[in-house]
Amino acid sequence: DRARHGHTRHMRYETGQDEQHQRRLALARDLGTAVEQDQLTMVYQPKILAASGEVMGFEALMRWRHPGFGFVPPDEFIALAEQSGRITQLTQWMLRTVCRQIDLWAQQGEVVSVAVNLSAHDVMDITLPERIHLLLQDYQLGPERLRLEVTESALIQDPALAQANLIALRKAGLHIAVDDYGTGYSSLSQLKRLPVQELKIDKSFILKLDHDSEDRIIVRSTIELAHSLGLSVVAEGVETDASQALLLAMGCDVLQGYLISRPLPSDQVIDWMTQYRKGDTTTRRAHG
Ligand code: C2E
Ligand code: MG
Ligand code: MG
Ligand code: MG
Repeated sequence: DRARHGHTRHMRYETGQDEQHQRRLALARDLGTAVEQDQLTMVYQPKILAASGEVMGFEALMRWRHPGFGFVPPDEFIALAEQSGRITQLTQWMLRTVCRQIDLWAQQGEVVSVAVNLSAHDVMDITLPERIHLLLQDYQLGPERLRLEVTESALIQDPALAQANLIALRKAGLHIAVDDYGTGYSSLSQLKRLPVQELKIDKSFILKLDHDSEDRIIVRSTIELAHSLGLSVVAEGVETDASQALLLAMGCDVLQGYLISRPLPSDQVIDWMTQYRKGDTTTRRAHG
């Protein structure tokens, strides 16, 4: 009886794994046509200066609506795109979409800078600086309008290769941030050798800030160390007034999170900025 029970559980486990495997295969296959079938969009999440509350820019985040599976989170499909070699195509689509959007907003009178996420594969692609240069040229954008976010783990995968690209991009005037800082087991002395200007502390340290004293110690000392190395600090995952107040007291430079706003579709960004500048906290709450 126990054996049979065990057997059933074993079978169910395998079925679950098989479904996961089928899903991954289907998603990896369908990524190949996601761009041409218009299934991808970019959403934009505001970042504000902690001290003044002023909007300092947006982070562009990719969304994929799959015809069968519905919304697929980027943490899932970006990894698949990297494994299946589709990431270069997705990144190129993303960069062009974002540059075009920055230009469209400028035509409506809003000069904004947008940060994009690069994957490990992108950072080690020697054609990246030239591709970015050409896009900025196409849309007549200064290099300060497009900022780059690279995860800590991507930077330390092959630091020498990443370094050459990042130095070229930095020389071209782009601003570079280390994303998900604190999850990649690197040291600030490793990162210091890379031309980065900003640390984004991973949201896993920020989400529970108001009731986890260890997270507070980690975040406070990270901010101090980053500042003493001349880096500015962004906190992502700011969800509560209490976290915002703590981060402000700790000297954190920039805040991003649901408290300020969720990521917005492109056609809501200008309205959001207008409402936000009016200090309309009810709108802020509605989005948060
Ligand atoms: P990330 O770059 O660290 O982006 C921050 C993530 O935190 C986003 O998740 C954002 O929606 C989420 N977030 C922001 N504020 C809050 C908050 O207050 N609370 C909580 N719980 N979450 C918050 P998202 O959009 O699901 O993206 C996940 C990751 O996927 C990103 O992490 C980034 O690494 C990757 N990603 C997204 N778009 C792209 C892209 O265009 N290219 C590449 N290579 N990666 C991307
Ligand atoms: Mg990011
Ligand atoms: Mg992050
Ligand atoms: Mg992340």
